[in-house]
Amino acid sequence: MTNKTKPAKVNKIQSIRGMHDVLPEQSPLWQFFESTVKKLLQSYAYSEIRMPVVESTDLFCRSIGEVTDIVEKEMYTFEDRNGDSLTLRPEGTASCVRSGIQHGLFHNQQQRLWYMGPMFRHERPQKGRYRQFHQVGIETFGMSSADIDAELILMSARLWKLLGIKDVRLELNTLGTSESRAAYRQVLVDYLNQHKEILDEDSLRRLESNPLRILDSKNPAMQEMIDAAPDLMDYLDEESKDHFKQLTTMLDNAGIEYNINSRLVRGLDYYCKTVFEWVTDSLGAQGTICAGGRYDGLVQQLGGRETPAAGFAMGIERILSLLEDAGMQVDNTPDIYIVLQGDDAQLQGLSFVESLRDQLPDINIQTNCGGGAFKGQIKKADKSGAKIALIMGDDEVANNTVSIKLLREKAEQITVTHSELVAAINKIL
Ligand code: ATP
Ligand code: MG
Repeated sequence: MTNKTKPAKVNKIQSIRGMHDVLPEQSPLWQFFESTVKKLLQSYAYSEIRMPVVESTDLFCRSIGEVTDIVEKEMYTFEDRNGDSLTLRPEGTASCVRSGIQHGLFHNQQQRLWYMGPMFRHERPQKGRYRQFHQVGIETFGMSSADIDAELILMSARLWKLLGIKDVRLELNTLGTSESRAAYRQVLVDYLNQHKEILDEDSLRRLESNPLRILDSKNPAMQEMIDAAPDLMDYLDEESKDHFKQLTTMLDNAGIEYNINSRLVRGLDYYCKTVFEWVTDSLGAQGTICAGGRYDGLVQQLGGRETPAAGFAMGIERILSLLEDAGMQVDNTPDIYIVLQGDDAQLQGLSFVESLRDQLPDINIQTNCGGGAFKGQIKKADKSGAKIALIMGDDEVANNTVSIKLLREKAEQITVTHSELVAAINKIL
C-alpha cells in the first residue's frame, strides 16, 4: 500500500519587483529592435564589446560620481563570499572604460564600440522605469573633435528612421571644458547661496559637492529660481564654444533639428562639452529614450592615459514601448506546419523534414510533435499562423508524396511527389 500524502502547499516564487520576464509573445519585437540596431552599428563599422554585469563597487563610485542619484541610492551593491564589495552594473560606460584600460584598447588607437544588455538600478518601479532594464550603449574613444559627437547623433537619428519613430526631439547642450565649468560653478554656487531658502534637501546637500545637478531638479518649487540662474553658455571658454559651434554646424548641414537646452546637465558626473538627450512626449514622465555626451576625463580618472571619449545609451524598454504604442507588431510565425498522421509518417516525418530544411534553409518550419488526430493537428497548424500545412499521412508515405494545404486562402489541397515539393513551396511562399 502506498502512503499517499497530500503535497505540501508551495508558495509560488515571483520575479523580483521591477525586474521583468520577456515573454514569448514579446520577444519578436525585442529581436526586431536588436537586429535593426546591430545592422545599423555594423554599417557604421562599430564593434561589439561584452563586459561582465558585475564589477567592483569602486568602479562606479569613482566614475559616475559619489553625489549622484545612481551612487547615492540606486546601486545593487553586495558583499560576495570573499567580503569584496561588488555591484550589479547600473550603466555600461564605466565597465567599458575599465575594460578598455585593462586590455590596452585605448593605446594610440581609436575605438568605436557598442554593447547591449541588462542594467540594474534600485529605483521606484513605474512605467518606463524598472530595476532591471536594458540598454544599448555606444562608446567611442580617441577622437576629440566634434565630428564624432555629430556621428553619434546622426546614427541615433537614423535608428529612429529605421524603427519608424517620429515623435522624438533632440535636446542639446554643452557643459564646456572642465576649466570653463569650474569658472561657472563658482558663479552658480554664489547665485544658489543667495537663494538658499528655496533649495530643497537634496539641493542643499549638492550645493558644495555637485551644484550643476541642482539645475536638473524637477522640484516645481525651485523652477523659477532655476530658470533665472546664470547660464553656463555665457561662461564657456573659446575651446568649448568652438567645439559646440562645429557640432551644431555639422548637425545643421545634415538637416538634424535640435533644441539647445542650457538646463540639460545629465545625471552622471563624467560628462564634459557635448551632452544630448532624445526625448519624446508620448511616454509620459519617462520620456528620455537616449542620452549621452562627451566624457574626455573619464579614462584618465579611472587610471588610463588621457583619452577623449563620447558615447550614449538607449533605454530599450522605453523604445519598445514607443513601438508598441505605434501599433508595431512583429510576429514569429512559422511558414510551414508539418502534419504527421499515422505511425509511419511519424517515424519518417522528422528525417524527411530535415532534408527539406537542407533545401529551404530560410524557411521556418514547425513539425507536429506529440501525435494527435488529423483534425487536431490541422487546428494546431492553423493556430501556428503558418501559411502552409504539409501533410504526410499513410497514403502519402506509401506513395512517396506530400499534400499541400494552404491555410490562409481557399484552394484545393494538392498532392505532389517529393521531388516536386521544393518548387511547389517556393511558388507559394
Ligand atoms: P532618467 O532621467 O530617466 O532617470 P538617467 O539620466 O538616469 O534617466 P541614463 O543613465 O542616461 O538615464 O540612461 C540612459 C537611458 O537609459 C535613459 O535615457 C533611459 O532611456 C534608460 N533608463 C535609465 N534608467 C532606467 C530605468 N530605471 N528603467 C528603464 N530605462 C531606464
Ligand atoms: Mg535616473
